[in-house]
Amino acid sequence: MQSYSLIAPGKINLYLEIIGDRPDGFHELVMILQSIELADRIDIKANDTQAITLHCHHPQVPADETNLAYRAAQLMCKTFPEVYANYGGVDISITKNVPVAAGLAGGSTDAAAVLVGINLMWGLGLTKPELEALAAKLGSDIPFCISGGTAIATGRGETLDPIPDLDHLWVILAKHRNISVSTPWAYKTYRQHYSKNYVSEPENIKIRRELVNSGALVSAITHQNSREIGNLLYNDLEKVVLPEYPLVAQVKSAFANCEVLGTMMSGSGPTVFALCESESQAKTVAEKVKKAIADPNLDFWVTKLSSGGIQLQVTH
Ligand code: ATP
Repeated sequence: MQSYSLIAPGKINLYLEIIGDRPDGFHELVMILQSIELADRIDIKANDTQAITLHCHHPQVPADETNLAYRAAQLMCKTFPEVYANYGGVDISITKNVPVAAGLAGGSTDAAAVLVGINLMWGLGLTKPELEALAAKLGSDIPFCISGGTAIATGRGETLDPIPDLDHLWVILAKHRNISVSTPWAYKTYRQHYSKNYVSEPENIKIRRELVNSGALVSAITHQNSREIGNLLYNDLEKVVLPEYPLVAQVKSAFANCEVLGTMMSGSGPTVFALCESESQAKTVAEKVKKAIADPNLDFWVTKLSSGGIQLQVTH
């Protein structure tokens, strides 16, 4: 049987607004998610056993059933037991390029790649909406990772509305190797400080979503107005993460002092990104900030925004 190689891009949040609490314990969000070209590579092939195996050499990535990619394979086996019995288990190999625990959906994109890959390998013929529904059972960011591009994500982040692609801009990512921000801590702390502003009535939630849908950032993206896009980046979680992690705030200030379109923390951090018009501009700014901060634990990546989600490379 063929083996499949899949390219699994990371994402940044161009916009993240926390609207309120949901009955399921998650937060009600409105986000604008954007794929980037920086991507993991996932190789999958059928084995002759009934086991799922996973290999990944990155020291921070678990190679057991707690890996989201492993859980995606498990979900496919449980959902399609007869096909699984027919084809056998799956060997998964992850080549990690997306920084780990960085707010860039690294684990989510690996899981999305496994869902897409097994769908092809087993000839299931699942459509994108069907794959997204399966993905939503595993995690809020995983449905977006399947089709990627640029999209408004609402609910927990799993309800998607694609908007025009924004793939002409470049982005610098900067992340401290020795800082990790717990996503549950960030949301819990936000709730402690800001829950008085939460809305809960369905009508009010709808109004807040529509404000983003018809708002200035979506309009700037539609018109490819790079300056405006840079000015309108937004992330509620910065209010709790930046005061607690001054080194992350320092990176944001350093980018803001350079010729960039805009700068923002992605998701719950600690990655800070800066949007640029061109690759050369992004590389120049990255060098400048690297010299200004001179922290050996601060890593930089320069990549492009991408219009695609999981992509397939057929091997033998
Ligand atoms: P998100 O942006 O979706 O909140 P993230 O980019 O902040 O996610 P991940 O890179 O997915 O974070 O890693 C979070 C944790 O998940 C890691 O500490 C790691 O132990 C675990 N993990 C499980 N599976 C994976 C995977 N395939 N790749 C990376 N981390 C994984």
